[in-house]
Amino acid sequence: MLMNSSKSSVEPEAVNSAPESRPANFLQERIAEDLRSGKYQHVQTRFPPEPNGYLHIGHAKAICIDFGLADEFGGKTNLRFDDTNPEKEDTEYVDSIQEDVRWLGFNWDGLYYASDYFDQIYEWAIQLIKAGKAYVDDLNADEVREYRGTLTQPGKESPYRNRSVEENLDLFIRMKNGEFPDGARTLRAKIDMSSPNLNLRDPIMYRILRAEHHRTGNKWLIYPTYDWAHGQSDSIEKVTHSMCSLEFADHQPLYNWYIEQLGIFPSQQIEFDRLAITYTLLSKRKLLQLVNEGRVSGWNDPRMPTLGGMRRRGYTPEAIRNFVWTVGVSRTNGIVELEMLEHFVREDLNRRSARVMAVLHPLKIVIDNYPEGQVEQMDAVNNPEDPNAGSRKVPFSKILYIEQDDFREVPPPKYFRLSPGKEVRLRYGYFITAKSVVKNAQGEVVEVHCTYDPATRGGNAPDGRKVKSTIHWVSAEHAVDAEVRIYDKLFTKENPTELEEGQNFTDNLNPNSLEVIANAKLEPSLADAAPGSRYQFERLGYFCVDTDSKPGRSVFNRTVALKDSWAKIEKKAK
Ligand code: ATP
Ligand code: MG
Repeated sequence: MLMNSSKSSVEPEAVNSAPESRPANFLQERIAEDLRSGKYQHVQTRFPPEPNGYLHIGHAKAICIDFGLADEFGGKTNLRFDDTNPEKEDTEYVDSIQEDVRWLGFNWDGLYYASDYFDQIYEWAIQLIKAGKAYVDDLNADEVREYRGTLTQPGKESPYRNRSVEENLDLFIRMKNGEFPDGARTLRAKIDMSSPNLNLRDPIMYRILRAEHHRTGNKWLIYPTYDWAHGQSDSIEKVTHSMCSLEFADHQPLYNWYIEQLGIFPSQQIEFDRLAITYTLLSKRKLLQLVNEGRVSGWNDPRMPTLGGMRRRGYTPEAIRNFVWTVGVSRTNGIVELEMLEHFVREDLNRRSARVMAVLHPLKIVIDNYPEGQVEQMDAVNNPEDPNAGSRKVPFSKILYIEQDDFREVPPPKYFRLSPGKEVRLRYGYFITAKSVVKNAQGEVVEVHCTYDPATRGGNAPDGRKVKSTIHWVSAEHAVDAEVRIYDKLFTKENPTELEEGQNFTDNLNPNSLEVIANAKLEPSLADAAPGSRYQFERLGYFCVDTDSKPGRSVFNRTVALKDSWAKIEKKAK
């Protein structure tokens, strides 16, 4: 979509983002120690997404750690696609992941795919077979599970475990050549069926799978498992610190076992806690379900916790990085409040966003004593947080819109906004006093007649008289119509996977997570705002132009409301 933003008199945002600070953490200390002790002479990390979905904010944490730590130690970071599950993977995901990593502000050194290493990994399997450390098993998936035992019961050895090297070699090569049906046989590492760590009970290295791979096509009929591919890929890339989330901790002994058996570069795995956020699901599988079932408009629906969704909603990479650094890393999983993420979004947008006026629920105001046909250009400050952002002109005229909420015919106690007989300030405009109302057949106020005081131009009274309220407005004749989408939490439960009997996590979806305002009124400077531009709508929140916008018909997303409930939560905690 092409939209012309050059005509706009308001630059959507100056580059005045919030500063970043990174608290120290145990990963940093570990790397520093490895360099000091001479264990490694360089730092090489990798970010290893499986291309089976779009990246979410949990991945942002891993990305910041992988890239951020390497940067800090003058090291390098590869982007490596962990593409060992051809049935679930797709180039759409490969492309979106690259876009999202770049958007978040990182550049990889090498771009690799585990599938680049399939030949080498196959050769290494042959090496393990020859060393008597791997065997072809004829048990089917159910039997393998049954023989595996449980946490409290040791496993049983497969009757095929003690095949000769020659037989194993022959069968494995025939597995590769497609002589057996899918699932008929596996290649397993010969480790220890009674190990207390289930990952060491003869883990599967290869399975037979006739599936077209998005990169290797139909070349392979056997695919390595995650465990058999990951550490070996790390080693090929001379990765020193292979950082991953805690659920892989139990896999570390296996990771090390493969590397030791092969005698290859000793990459080491280090685990950190997984990011979890209240009211948010961070699982590609479940997010995919939301997309497939049409519960959201796609992976980049602005309510999604994906980087694509957050970008479209108006979140900035700076805000996400600051959030991630502040959450920090530890060795135990916890949960972070969604309000904390929103706090960082607000903090960054506050610095960088131009202020504009927009009315979401318009109520017509007629200023009876204002000259018919007169238009004045009022000076409005673009960003009080940024003196370089300058000012703009906003047209003022006889008929205006204000928010319905900013008028009450019968004001409740402590209501200081407009009501009959009350005087308020129109931001950058004049003081006005409500005189009378016009109602429709249903008795609703549809028009308020006011008078203005010409001496208060710009918003101050020369006689020093004060008003208790300043409200925003838009000139009716000059207003631009727009659709505005207001978002709320996607789930109603803090933990969306907390279910009653018979429920599915989609039962916890918030039916009111999207409210569409069809006819909001915006100040005219927003007429040509380009998709992605971010603004603060005064008194309402931060908004950004959605990619659904068409020339003459803008769509805005509310990124986040103004009220900072995190600041309150933090204060309470002190
Ligand atoms: P999901 O459970 O959403 O499918 P995943 O862990 O399967 O995520 P991968 O593509 O395998 O996704 O992950 C790539 C990297 O991102 C891994 O190193 C993983 O540890 C890390 N990662 C994924 N989710 C999180 C999270 N919530 N917090 C921190 N790191 C994460
Ligand atoms: Mg995974």
